[in-house]
Amino acid sequence: MTEKKRNLERLTGVKGMNDILPRDVSLWFFFEKTVTSILHSYGYQNIRTPILEYTSLFRRGIGEVTDIVEKEMYSFIDSLNGKKLTMRPENTAAIVRAAIEHNLLYDGPKRLWYIGPMFRHERPQRGRYRQFHQVGVEALGFKGPDIDAEIILMCQRLWGDLNLTGIRLELNSLGHKQERAAHRDQLIAYLERYIELLDDDSKHRLYTNPLRVLDTKNPALQDIAANAPKLIDFLGNESLAHFEGIQSLLSENNITFTINPRLVRGLDYYNMTVFEWVTDKLGAQGTVGGGGRYDPLINQLGGKPALACGWALGVERILELIREDQIVVPSEEGCDVYIVHQGAAARSFAFVVAEQLRDAGLDVILHCSSDDVLVSFKSQMKLADASGAAYAVILGDDELQRDEVSIKSLRSDRTSGDNIQQRVPGKRLSEFLTNLIVTRSGKY
Ligand code: AMP
Repeated sequence: MTEKKRNLERLTGVKGMNDILPRDVSLWFFFEKTVTSILHSYGYQNIRTPILEYTSLFRRGIGEVTDIVEKEMYSFIDSLNGKKLTMRPENTAAIVRAAIEHNLLYDGPKRLWYIGPMFRHERPQRGRYRQFHQVGVEALGFKGPDIDAEIILMCQRLWGDLNLTGIRLELNSLGHKQERAAHRDQLIAYLERYIELLDDDSKHRLYTNPLRVLDTKNPALQDIAANAPKLIDFLGNESLAHFEGIQSLLSENNITFTINPRLVRGLDYYNMTVFEWVTDKLGAQGTVGGGGRYDPLINQLGGKPALACGWALGVERILELIREDQIVVPSEEGCDVYIVHQGAAARSFAFVVAEQLRDAGLDVILHCSSDDVLVSFKSQMKLADASGAAYAVILGDDELQRDEVSIKSLRSDRTSGDNIQQRVPGKRLSEFLTNLIVTRSGKY
């Protein structure tokens, strides 16, 4: 391609990786504020780990025979030192890595939460992106089942606070390793009887990760999966007691759930309790989030054995549900005041006024234009209107001479008379505007 042609080529974002534009930000803020307030109300602490990790972390943590590790990771070689890096496809392995590296469990268990972008090379479609966001919790060093119930309760509270309806909880237990091993033998023997009917994915998993065959979305295999030996029938007393413990805690807290014996989750590190939140409102991508216990992981990644559980929710899918349910969210767009001005003296004064109003707690946009271009008041008022500000503050020669400012409401009902321009002495402006804004919007 010639240099010229390359320059003319239209630049776009990477497929499956979305821009979040200002018009969508009210929704994101509403979600983030709601979820963080709930996480803090349960005593969870925020943790932020890097987007890049060594590839070996995910290979060891998530499991070699998983969709993520086999085909979905964005991995590359660091050209400076030849090390293999991966953009995090999920965050549990990284948080466990950080907890071990910084010895976070030295003084007892930890309740942690995170939010941020994850990266998976999947086929983009509604609700499935290559860069997407997860909010998640990791409760490290707890045996359960009380903590398992606690993290589920947090999600239930989140659905309530977001006013979302129609999200169901599905629950299962994967038991201990030995129980899974006993089940595995019988499952393989059962699946071998149908080997001719299995698709390539299932054949591939038959001896490496047969539990995942039960997770198949292939309609032709649903009957085979439904009639396969059930892991729950292989659970011993301790696993059953744990599973029954969490069920009674959920019931006591009025949480309804269904037991789905085929729920296995896509990542290898889970054991005992696993769960998913699902909805019918999002088409094919109906899983809003999920999680469970991952007791062996801390030890598997080199830490002292410690039990743990957590969940991750897909932020884009939750936002889609908020849109789908037509929930009204508070607007973050627009500010309180847009200041228009004309002339050098008025501009200097406008800076002073803008800072005074910000000192008083108001959000202020100051009209900015280059020195040599005189923008008419009419054009500035159009910009003020388009900015979404509640009031325009007008500073012209006349106002300056009288030590006054003019105020015009930009958002009121035009017939109420509230939008008539009013003048107030310069030194009373902050107080006057603050009162106006408090009485009109209940801002503070
Ligand atoms: P997982 O880590 O696969 O258990 O995913 C947890 C949640 O993240 C899922 O239930 C989805 O809500 C969300 N999620 C996973 N992958 C994607 C993706 N490619 N695009 C959007 N959301 C996703």
